[in-house]
Amino acid sequence: METASALRQERSKVLYAQACQLIPGGVNSPVRAMRQIGREPLFIARGEGAYLFDVDGNRYIDWVMSWGPLIAGHRHPAVIEAVEEACAAGLTFGAPTEREVLLAREVVERVPAADAVRMVCSGTEAVMTALRLARAATGRETVIKFAGGYHGHIDQLLVEAGSGLATAALPASAGIPTAVASQTVVVPFNDPAALAEAVERFAPAAVLVEPLPANMGVVPPAEGFLATIRQLCDKAGALLIFDEVISGFRVARGGAVELYGVEPDLITFGKVIGGGLPVGAVAGRRALMERLAPVGDVYQAGTLAGNPLAMAAGLATLQLLDPAAYATLSAVTGALAAQLKEVAAPYPVCVVEAPGLLTVFFREEPPRNLAEVQGCDLEAFARFARAMLGEGVYIPPSQFEAWFPSLAHGEREIEQTVAAARRALRQAF
Ligand SMILES: *Cc1c(COP(=O)(O)O)cnc(C)c1O
Repeated sequence: METASALRQERSKVLYAQACQLIPGGVNSPVRAMRQIGREPLFIARGEGAYLFDVDGNRYIDWVMSWGPLIAGHRHPAVIEAVEEACAAGLTFGAPTEREVLLAREVVERVPAADAVRMVCSGTEAVMTALRLARAATGRETVIKFAGGYHGHIDQLLVEAGSGLATAALPASAGIPTAVASQTVVVPFNDPAALAEAVERFAPAAVLVEPLPANMGVVPPAEGFLATIRQLCDKAGALLIFDEVISGFRVARGGAVELYGVEPDLITFGKVIGGGLPVGAVAGRRALMERLAPVGDVYQAGTLAGNPLAMAAGLATLQLLDPAAYATLSAVTGALAAQLKEVAAPYPVCVVEAPGLLTVFFREEPPRNLAEVQGCDLEAFARFARAMLGEGVYIPPSQFEAWFPSLAHGEREIEQTVAAARRALRQAF
């Protein structure tokens, strides 16, 4: 028996039908459609703290938090106030403003590997810029990425492994030139031998990695794996790019660089750095960053880059993220994970956590790479996710995503989520 039908969803259904006539698939980003769990999306009216309210008046505990940006929760007063203040002065000028300097300083101060930072409007753009910089700096074209790593919808990175290890990648989407895809090589995560072989064979411009992968669910790096990537890059004269669009300013004050103590050459940010408005950033050592126009020969630009409202939201958010906030976020994540593990114990389900992130995988053991995640019981997961929605708990509607705890989640939300999970697991199996 499924409880999702207990939700009032008349208004969502009407809006979804209209949206499907006007917007491909009714959504502006595919995962929102909830197809992986076999249902229609809910249309959201507003958010408050740890809660979402849909257009039919249902309330949900929100563990998606707009997929990461809302680390302080919905409508945090400090963030809203900062944006309102910026708003009053005008929306955009196409000229420098003080908040860009303040946000850049906040980033540089937190991340020792970052001497300078260029603001863009999305994580995708940040990665695109990092790749261009890496190619310019090395005079090479190939990039190595890991299976299950997501880096935005960039042609060269929407690829999947070719046949056999250490061969050129194939397009993973229609519309991607084979020639572009073939400039990328995909290797399994947590596999030092495969990476060593690929680095040696291809002498790439860069190795691009989510240091704490969260786009195949949370799959932490094995002990020493990031250090191995660093060594292999150094040996081959390749740059190391950390894509910290999710992990940046979430897993520690200085992101995964701080958490794991491995320094990349370039770092990309997104999500938390914009506090809920569209921001991405690329950061790195001064010499490398100053290859960017107007001082250098690598072109990059943006009409709304460093937008005043976006800078205000990002700055206000980072200012909330002091050591006490990270301790709180870790405690919330840890408590949620521990209690979920307890209720999941009778089932072939495991809970993998990292600071400020977790995934409930429908398999016995924590996966080490994409192939293992793909072995999860996706049907059982879909039943679980639908039942959780029916219980008023909004989790990512995909096995290949992370839950995003925030500073707005507390004991009450954890308790209700765990009670709901206990019932949802019974329905899933
Ligand atoms: C979300 C994400 C991106 C893409 O960011 P957008 O703002 O959606 O373009 C890139 N890399 C990682 C690791 C991400 O999680």
